[in-house]
Amino acid sequence: MVPTAGDTGVYDIVVVGGGPGGYAAALYGAAAGLSVAVVERDKVGGTCLHRGCVPAKAFLETASVYRTVSTAAEFGINASSGPPAGEPPRSPRVDFAVSQSRKQKVVDQLHRGLAGLMRSRGITTIAGTGTLLPGNIVRVDDGTEVAGRNVILAAGSVPRTIPGFEVDGELILTSDEVLDLDHLPESAAVIGGGAIGCEFASMLSDLGVRVTLLEALDSLLAGCDEDVVAVVSRSFRKRGIEVITGARISGHAPMGPLGQTARRGTRVILEGSAEIEVEAVIVAVGRRPRIEGLLAEGVGVAVDERGFVQIDRFMRTSSPGVWAVGDLVATPQLAHVGFAEAMVAVKGILGERAVPVDYAKVPWCIYSHPEVAFAGMSEAAARGAGLDVVVKADPLGGNSRARILGETDGLVKVIAERAAEGRAGRILGVHMVGPWVTEQLGQAYLSVNWEAVPDEVAAFVQPHPSLSEAFGETMLALTGRGLHVG
Ligand code: NAD
Repeated sequence: MVPTAGDTGVYDIVVVGGGPGGYAAALYGAAAGLSVAVVERDKVGGTCLHRGCVPAKAFLETASVYRTVSTAAEFGINASSGPPAGEPPRSPRVDFAVSQSRKQKVVDQLHRGLAGLMRSRGITTIAGTGTLLPGNIVRVDDGTEVAGRNVILAAGSVPRTIPGFEVDGELILTSDEVLDLDHLPESAAVIGGGAIGCEFASMLSDLGVRVTLLEALDSLLAGCDEDVVAVVSRSFRKRGIEVITGARISGHAPMGPLGQTARRGTRVILEGSAEIEVEAVIVAVGRRPRIEGLLAEGVGVAVDERGFVQIDRFMRTSSPGVWAVGDLVATPQLAHVGFAEAMVAVKGILGERAVPVDYAKVPWCIYSHPEVAFAGMSEAAARGAGLDVVVKADPLGGNSRARILGETDGLVKVIAERAAEGRAGRILGVHMVGPWVTEQLGQAYLSVNWEAVPDEVAAFVQPHPSLSEAFGETMLALTGRGLHVG
């Protein structure tokens, strides 16, 4: 017997999918006193917590620890008691099974916390796969039916694949399989140089895997500012990642055991170029909405040709009382965008005034080494939109904290609208690359969304020495009188 809401047995909100979009809607709705049920086929937390952001960042942290230990001698730290006399110095060794179990512990702790929080808010979680029926009823695959005054669809997305690269979990992997590995391949081809491809290429290469990164477009990280992309590409190449842009992949041919090992491999075939022999291929060519089986006949929810549920600015679908958020809709596939959309939908359900998400100004963070973080327009996007701009870029080479860390590959770039007398006006975009920039984006995000001008932002005092000074210095330079930056 499924618990029902109040006397009517009808929940204020039934959420389909307990990922970031769905659980945020449930928590925010319950915090406002609404009765909420969440139908979840697997575990609450969704892709982000179990197969995406959180585990990927846990492994990127493993890579960071490895880098730190590898360079410890530069800081005068002898990290091991040294090899026996006569043997060459040892480099650190990765025990990926331990990394995997540490990652799992982090995920499990967060999962228990989230499930407990949902219980403590009185949210009913129903195990199973939900299908929306006419009349705002959700049928669970065990036959149970749950009624809602409103339904929020938040079924998320799954990795896209490419023809000829059928995922088998051994030779051909997507992010789902990579994040479950208990040992690392010796070599890998990563197909797709977007956020996932760059994070995986960076992490695997740092942990000693020979990586080839194959991107169909002319550059990595489409949508990021080109000066930022140049820093990432240079760093990748310097660390031994082979980056092939403009790659045309026609297929792959599995091979027998590689070298002296029992491990198999495959040859990735590129048009007009040599074949690449690798132990594993990681396909990271985007994600598609999980729409199959979600909507029964006659529910009246419009879906576009790519399978995304169509919504208006307030997350309303074409069917009254049915809302959709997260990766199921064609907006940036970011957990925090799912959170924001969930709050817009719940405010709409409550009859409150909701401010639609401004997708052009949401924060973006890519946790590769070096990290990338930005909000607002790139220089190319601003010029492409016909805007007259003033641009200033400050490389991290002169930043004291970056020198102290020994990580000076990076920059802060600010794009502002040109105002009267050529001065820098409204800040259109801030783009950062380098150490811990994902944790420094806050003030940049506020400047862009507040439509501040450099004269205002430059008046704020930055701590010294700090990485965040580079942001303040760039703003100061845009006022026409820089301190360290000209
Ligand atoms: P993506 O769309 O960001 O990048 C996919 C890349 O693959 C593109 O550059 C595309 O040109 C390339 N590509 C497509 N087909 C190809 C082919 N046949 N050969 C070579 N290259 C090909 O997708 P993603 O990196 O898989 O990420 C999925 C979604 O998840 C994105 O929306 C992404 O923004 C989001 N995400 C974000 C973060 C983050 O912000 N840190 C991390 C992971 C994922």
